[in-house]
Amino acid sequence: MVPRKYLLSEDDMPRCWYNLAADLPTGMQPPLTPDGKPIGPEMLAPVFPMNLIEQEVSQERWIEIPQEIQEILARWRPTPLRRAVYLEQHLKTHARIYYKDESVSPPGSHKPNTAVPQAWYNKQFGIKRITTETGAGQWGCALAFACNLLGLECKVFMVRISFDQKPMRKLMMKVWGANCIASPSNETHAGRDILARMPDTPGSLGIAISEAVEAAVSDTSGQTRYSLGSVLNHVLLHQTVIGQEAQKQLKQAGEKLPDVVIGCAGGGSNFAGIAFPFVLDKINGANIRLVPVEPAACPTMTKAPFVYDFGDTAGMTPLLPMFSLGHDFVPAPIHAGGLRYHGIAPLVSQGIVEGLLEPQAIDQLTCYKSALTWASTEGTICAPETSHAIASVIDEAVKAREEGKEKVILFCYSGHGLMDLSGYDRYLSGELPELRLSDEEIQKYQKSLENLPKPERRKSGRW
Ligand SMILES: *Cc1c(COP(=O)(O)O)cnc(C)c1O
Repeated sequence: MVPRKYLLSEDDMPRCWYNLAADLPTGMQPPLTPDGKPIGPEMLAPVFPMNLIEQEVSQERWIEIPQEIQEILARWRPTPLRRAVYLEQHLKTHARIYYKDESVSPPGSHKPNTAVPQAWYNKQFGIKRITTETGAGQWGCALAFACNLLGLECKVFMVRISFDQKPMRKLMMKVWGANCIASPSNETHAGRDILARMPDTPGSLGIAISEAVEAAVSDTSGQTRYSLGSVLNHVLLHQTVIGQEAQKQLKQAGEKLPDVVIGCAGGGSNFAGIAFPFVLDKINGANIRLVPVEPAACPTMTKAPFVYDFGDTAGMTPLLPMFSLGHDFVPAPIHAGGLRYHGIAPLVSQGIVEGLLEPQAIDQLTCYKSALTWASTEGTICAPETSHAIASVIDEAVKAREEGKEKVILFCYSGHGLMDLSGYDRYLSGELPELRLSDEEIQKYQKSLENLPKPERRKSGRW
């Protein structure tokens, strides 16, 4: 029988996180204030604990994972590498399709890989309370779970549309002891301001981030900090355990290197997690394609310009060098809530500018169709976010069949969809529209960026 799963023991867990910033051929550009001054670590101190800020700006290639964090991660890590043999048979492809199953974590996605270290470093620093935002609810659940294990308070601002569409997620947060409220809320200036202007807004990650940051920095006791589930360097860093494990497991399966590595991308963290260790191989000369996949309704990497933009709607965060649809952009209410973000991680952005990464956008109908093909072959029900990766994988596998080529495809199965069945319901009853963002819409939101500083497009020309 062809093996379906490749397992590692606790002893095989990665001991370090991999920091791509150390290996990019041109340096990363710093975060800026709105008038163009570089942001120093001390300016971030009201928002994040200093130990995480040090990771955020680190140029070290390998950063050791503290033993206590490894012990918590060992509850579900190493995750299985599985081979999608049933999908391969169904597609009659010559491709061998492998996936890292990040849905086996207690909250059901890759997000606790960073929630646990973030909660741990906050606790080390003497913080008692963490605020955050959540889109689909996956991140809120992951942080609630981590804070609960480490004895910290957790407050979650959940994007209104998901709050209404995904009641089970907020109940999970409650079980893990967190306080979850709908955003925009009446609890912050940022929330009240948006509600006054747009009372019926479905909310957005940008708005929820503004609220969570404000809630953290306005606590005068100094014992509250904010936590972000994607986008930032230290978050992407924590996810690199995924790709490092996959490297070992592919060897176990007798493979050399994958031909293509695929992950869906909202803020870019699960994609970075699986892909960055292979980006190092590519920088060292390997021939690998690395494909982050986004929704056509929120085409940040494929259609937006590379700019300096705020991470949130109210402009409370530093300006980050990234591809961005504009901080005012409110994406259509698609069910892949975790992919409704106006920007994409600066490290992923720089990888795109360099030509190391080849982003792709796919519309939600193709994604749900792929999710159903997956459910009826492999059997599991994937998160709507994950279906974007699967749609791209199916495309690659079909191409391999048509070209008569053998190909090794690796992707990140970022989470299960058992709390997201309402999206499947709408797809199955034919209610979901195909959604693509038009060029006019994109132009409209770029106005908010006119007076902000512009990043350089730094490119070594190697790819
Ligand atoms: C949050 C989420 C994503 C998108 O976030 P990234 O930071 O881009 O990884 C993808 N898949 C699932 C299941 C998620 O919960």
